[in-house]
Amino acid sequence: MDHQGRLGRLRHVMEQRKLDALLITHLPNIRYLCGFTGSSGTVLATYGGVTFFTDGRYAEQVRAEVHGCHVRIVRKSALVAAGEWLADEARLRKIGVEAAHLTIAERTSLAAALGNKSRLIDAPPMIEGLRQIKDADEIDRIRAACQLGSELFDRVKTVLRPGVSEAEVAGEIEFTARKRGAEQMAFPTIVAGGKRSALPHGRASTAAIPPRGFVVCDFGVILAGYCSDMTRMVHVGRPLLKARRVYNAVREAQQAALEAVRPGATTGEVDRAARKVLKRKSLGKYFTHSTGHGVGLEIHEAPRIASGQKELLRAGMVITIEPGAYLAGEFGVRIEDTVVVTETGCEIVTACSKDLITI
Ligand code: ZN
Ligand code: ZN
Repeated sequence: MDHQGRLGRLRHVMEQRKLDALLITHLPNIRYLCGFTGSSGTVLATYGGVTFFTDGRYAEQVRAEVHGCHVRIVRKSALVAAGEWLADEARLRKIGVEAAHLTIAERTSLAAALGNKSRLIDAPPMIEGLRQIKDADEIDRIRAACQLGSELFDRVKTVLRPGVSEAEVAGEIEFTARKRGAEQMAFPTIVAGGKRSALPHGRASTAAIPPRGFVVCDFGVILAGYCSDMTRMVHVGRPLLKARRVYNAVREAQQAALEAVRPGATTGEVDRAARKVLKRKSLGKYFTHSTGHGVGLEIHEAPRIASGQKELLRAGMVITIEPGAYLAGEFGVRIEDTVVVTETGCEIVTACSKDLITI
């Protein structure tokens, strides 16, 4: 991974924001900048260099993972240690913090360590901005994670039967994922059958798969740090006309949004493409969430693919396209792919078929 290039780009954004230093506490941002995969640490970025603060539990891991940073193993909170180090550097006055990733208690103890020479500034999500454009190494990892995700759906097809619990199906997906190298799931696996398929985020429960109806399967893995995300539907028994009609409408909406993905399009336009199809089929009011989100080191990251968003798509972004229609008390349908924005459109990396599977 090109950590030096990333740090160079970060300094450029810090300059634009007129920050003397940036304290980074959000772990995915720390991993992005310096490769550390542990669960506690703080990075201090200045124009003179980058210092990584962590405690003794990670000394060995830091030697293996973190390169190009000064490393300080401290006995106290890494954030407070960074604050005390900053207090000795009189020329560093405007200190950016990741406001969205700092508790009030942490901010208070940081301010106390800094004293009154410097000022804490709530920085916008600068690293999240850089992370939107994935490099070739990152895209390779996302491709591999999505390939594994697609293979897991084959496993679903062999275990999903009426009477089996949703949790058991989810457990099979997760066990297979771990056996094939996933570090963990990217989010709690969604397997929701029958009426529960109308819950957009119906976590797998102890409910049994009913003898007839839709089952929504939405799951993702984390493989080598990067997430996958896909949703496919299974229908138990022969689908009735209404179920078939809604499925086809969501599939058409998803296809329209996929075709709207290209560099220069706004994320709002992509959302509109999906929504337009569902409106035309009188299903607009049942599509109750946004069309998609960025995927990378985190399962939900920038950009948002949502109504009215002005953000422009750029080549190298990785996003999901996941319209749905949820008919409360009846059933719901969602179809989701993860795609890489290319120079001319997009590449779908969750390649498994979207033909409706009936069992
Ligand atoms: Zn999903
Ligand atoms: Zn998603």
